[in-house]
Amino acid sequence: MYDLLIIGGGPAGASAAVYAARKRLKTLMILEDWGGQSAISSEVQNWIGTPAISGADLADSLKKHVEAYKGEYLEIKPRVRASALEPADDKVMITLSNGEKVEGKTALVTTGANRRKLEVPGAAEFDQKGLTYCASCDGPLFADKDVAVIGGGNAAFETALQLLAYCKTVYLINRTENFRADEITVASAKAKPNMRIVTNAEMVSVDGEQFVSGITYKNPQTGEVTKLPVEGVFVEIGLLPNTEWIGTALEKNQVGQIVVDPKSQRTSHPRIWAAGDCTNGLYHQNNIAAGDAVKALEDVYMFIHRGAEAPTP
Ligand SMILES: Cc1cc2nc3c(=O)[nH]c(=O)nc-3n(C[C@H](O)[C@H](O)[C@H](O)COP(=O)(O)OP(=O)(O)OC[C@H]3O[C@@H](n4cnc5c(N)ncnc54)[C@H](O)[C@@H]3O)c2cc1C
Repeated sequence: MYDLLIIGGGPAGASAAVYAARKRLKTLMILEDWGGQSAISSEVQNWIGTPAISGADLADSLKKHVEAYKGEYLEIKPRVRASALEPADDKVMITLSNGEKVEGKTALVTTGANRRKLEVPGAAEFDQKGLTYCASCDGPLFADKDVAVIGGGNAAFETALQLLAYCKTVYLINRTENFRADEITVASAKAKPNMRIVTNAEMVSVDGEQFVSGITYKNPQTGEVTKLPVEGVFVEIGLLPNTEWIGTALEKNQVGQIVVDPKSQRTSHPRIWAAGDCTNGLYHQNNIAAGDAVKALEDVYMFIHRGAEAPTP
């Protein structure tokens, strides 16, 4: 039996694995892919200690850092999904997508999040026919075209910044007046001559025949409806936690995020911790995911070596 099962290979899972190996906890790391969500980012500029790094290089450096500790204390199972979680009084069991079952004294869930789907008429119909959830993958197909980015957070503005380099015009369509993105990112996008920002715009539909030819949005205050001709629609309207595989084994909030104690990252089960974007933490970033996972790891270590109760502050 392992001391610890870590599920996920993003910044949270990778940080936890490095700390676990250094603390000589017998650990199994289970992950579908290395690097997590920002692996598709063209440039990450706030990973502390690194002024700028591509998402792919960040993923590679996380992988290399973890693999440096592979050995007696750390085993890694890549390209496999955890598909069920069964906690008991004395252990935690996880079933993997290849049918294998693994057991640990404790588990740390770091399975992150994925993109929320746009739910308006035409969105499902035109998915991959002009509508996409991945600018890095599909953006270059829209060079010299007019496109719309739906959303107002960091991911939406980063997507816009990527597209501004080669699209004719980039319209950012935001439901409210305010943005959730960092001010520096908003300012960089606003400074580009081919950037247009539309606020108070609620999506009504994605329009077209065989491929996207435009979008329709409505001002919720005035009721005014606008049709905007665009050939590409990039959706960045938030994230959904990757926690369905957990079923009802842990307490979750209304959107499926695992409820944790922010002091220790403990979940509703005494042998399970969670960190990063799969939790109900208010803010989600690479550095936060890494830090929360380290916090969880310290608490896991205390649990294993001192029994169920962590030290009280
Ligand atoms: C386009 C984009 C750009 C971003 N840019 C930045 C940025 O510049 N700076 C910043 O700080 N943050 C950025 N973020 C946010 C940041 O990426 C997340 O906050 C961070 O990745 C969360 O890390 P995590 O480890 O919690 O989860 P994730 O990164 O989501 O990683 C989840 C991991 O779990 C694995 N996994 C999922 N389900 C299973 C399963 N059932 N079994 C096994 N493995 C599983 C995945 O393969 C992955 O390895 C960006 C996000 C996006 C989408």
